[in-house]
Parts: sequence; structure tokens; C-alpha cells
Amino acid sequence: MTRPAVFLDRDGVLNEPVVRDGRPHPPADASALIVYEEAAEAVRALREAGFALVVVTNQPDVARGTTPRAVVDAINARLREQLPLDDVLVCPHDDGDRCDCRKPLPGLMTRGARLHDIDLARSYLVGDRWRDVEAGAAAGCRTVFIDRSWAERPPSTMPTARAASVLEAARWIIADSGSTMQQLDASPETVSLDALRVKLFADGADLDGIAKLAANPRIAGFTTNPTLMRKAGITDYETFGRRALEIVGGRPLSYEVFADDAAEMLRQARKLAGWGDNVYVKIPVSDTQGNRTDDVVRELTRDGIKVNVTALMTEAQVVRVVDTLQGTRGAYVSVFAGRVADTGRDPVPMMKRSATVCETVPNVELIWASPRELLNVFQADAAGVHVITATHDILAKLELVGKDLDEYSLDTVKMFHCDAAGAGFTL
Ligand SMILES: [Mg+2]
Repeated sequence: MTRPAVFLDRDGVLNEPVVRDGRPHPPADASALIVYEEAAEAVRALREAGFALVVVTNQPDVARGTTPRAVVDAINARLREQLPLDDVLVCPHDDGDRCDCRKPLPGLMTRGARLHDIDLARSYLVGDRWRDVEAGAAAGCRTVFIDRSWAERPPSTMPTARAASVLEAARWIIADSGSTMQQLDASPETVSLDALRVKLFADGADLDGIAKLAANPRIAGFTTNPTLMRKAGITDYETFGRRALEIVGGRPLSYEVFADDAAEMLRQARKLAGWGDNVYVKIPVSDTQGNRTDDVVRELTRDGIKVNVTALMTEAQVVRVVDTLQGTRGAYVSVFAGRVADTGRDPVPMMKRSATVCETVPNVELIWASPRELLNVFQADAAGVHVITATHDILAKLELVGKDLDEYSLDTVKMFHCDAAGAGFTL
């Protein structure tokens, strides 16, 4: 069976190039090889996502006689000691040589495809030069351009995506490739809450409701938001916040900042976090002007504060936010799947891909937020989402899970009959 690959350029993608006159060159020898710190994580995530990993590199210094082939091979061997790669394919030729492999020609990719049973149409190329992007496109792959502003022309073919590093490229590829994943299986005949891996959180702000749900061992955590708090008539945030923390007994609880500028967000976040180590501070993905809050999230994460980045609706936001959570002790990324569904779009495929993206950074979990019906709990579970947070009225339907449908049908007929009789209708 053929599988997809990620073709990775070497110098400037996996390892630091030597820069002369604004242009990248290979390291002089194996001892000078410096692999980018983020390359290991990128390669690991891509392997886990099922990609073959093939390095494709132009090394014209061999043809020019300035670097022996053995030195190139030694550098590649050192690279493979540090990164689990399936192959490193080298073009040793120079412009003017008759070869089919010097990028922008696609020969290295087509050779890789033959050697490793690779489906080029489902594959990707990551490169930092115009030659890489054009070669990837010529091979029929999608391309990710890491633009390091080298003193040379840009690619004449538009790259499919751009990334700042190989890790960012890997995250984008994982998210993008999910689009071809299989749809979920049809619902099974029998359903039960016992087999669920997704954690159930309760989303609400009335203390009685929180207390009732806290007594249910299936509820693994709690979330609130300013809209729910306002609806519940709360006027004193701190009194409510501290009381709810007592009720939930150590389970995670998210409280949201309401500031709209970075400095005040940071101040509020530190205050909220001070109420307990199980507090996750909700930071909206942007301020009300649409400016990103990435720097706020980074700073809080660096200070060891657990955050819940909220109100996300696109995969691009997920990829970006996950990157700001490097090194976190614990963080949630809340994607409003229900609101996505409200726009007529099926949130399941994007939630599936987003869960994989979250797994590229330790201690980051994806929340399916704003569910619209109980079925979403099962959809979230099947999609590999880590947490679903549901309002108290949706959670009240948990007792219906697995109910016999003939019995439920009869109950419904009886309800209509009873209500008609109660209303005293005549015809
Ligand atoms: Mg390069």
C-alpha cells in the first residue's frame, strides 16, 4: 500500500545553513552540523501521523569538486543519528549537468516515491528556497515554504502554505492532511457512557447547578464564561469564583478574564490563577479589535499559569495557539464546534485534525465547546477530542443515553396525548 510522505529539504529546514552573502550553504563537515532544536519534535509528530520522511537535498559542491561526496554522506549519517528519517536522497549535480534530480526538477521525489511506495499526490515538500517549492510542485506534492529571506528570487510557483519553522510546517501538514481522513463510523446500535474517553466538563455559572453536577463522578471539570455568569445574576466575581472552587474540589475550573488590553489581561489572569492551582485562566483568542493575544498566552505559560485559550473557530487559529503553549504545565484550547455547526459547516473533521495538532505539545488538550446536543459528546469522543464542555441542560440528557427507542417513542406518544387532553382541545 502506498503512503504519503513529507519530503524535507536539508540545509535551512532541518539544520542551520552556513550563510554567506545572504545565501545558505551546507555545513563544512559532520562536526559542523547543527540540527534545529525544533526539528526532532517536528519529525516525531510527522512520523506519528503516518508520514514517510525523506530528505531531498541538492549538494552541487560535489560536482564542483569543492566537497567530496564522502563528506556529504557523513553529514547525512550524522543527521540520521539525530532524526528518525526513512531516507536521505542527494543530487550531487550542478546546473548544466544532465540530470533529472537537481531541484527544481522533481527527480529526487519520484525516486523516493519508487523506493518507499509513496503516493506523491498525498505528499508534502518543506523547503526554504525557490528550488524546493518548485520541485515539490513539479512532483505533484503540496508545498510549505519556510521563507528565510535569502538573497535570491522567490518561488515562481505559489507554495501551498508558509511556515516560520519546520515544526510549524509539520503542524500545518498534520492539520491539512486530516482532510482526507475517513469519516466517522455510523452510530452503533447500543450506546453507553462507560466506553467514552472524552472527558465531560460542565459549563455553567449557577452555584446550585455546579453543586449538583459536582456530585456526579462523570463530570471531570468545569468551565464558566462571562455570558453565563451574567445570566446567572452574578455581580461579585471573586465571591462566586472562590465559592465554586470549594464546590468542585480540585477538579479543573476555567475562569475568563474580561479585560481587552494585554496588560490588564495579564493582571486579571494572575489574580484568577492565584485562587487555586486548578484554575485555568480563559484568554480569548483575540481582543475585541481582532488583535491576537499570542503574547499574553506565551507570557502566562512561561510564568507557569494554566490557560484555556477560548473562542477559536478555525484550524489556523488552533495551529497558531498550540505553538504559544510550548512548555505549559496544562492548557486547554477551546474550539467552538457548536458555533461552527451553526454556520452550516460540519465541525467533526476539523475537530479531529485539531486534536492531533494539540497532541504535538505536551499537556495541551482540545475542548469541544458550545455543543448543541447530546450526540456531540459521542462525536467528540470518536474524533479523539480530549474534553467536551456542555451546559447543564445538555448534561441533563445524559440519563437518556442508551434509552430503548421503542420505549422512548411510546413515552412521546403519551406526552402528546396527555398535553392535548390537558389543554381540553376539541375538534
Ligand atoms: Mg535549503
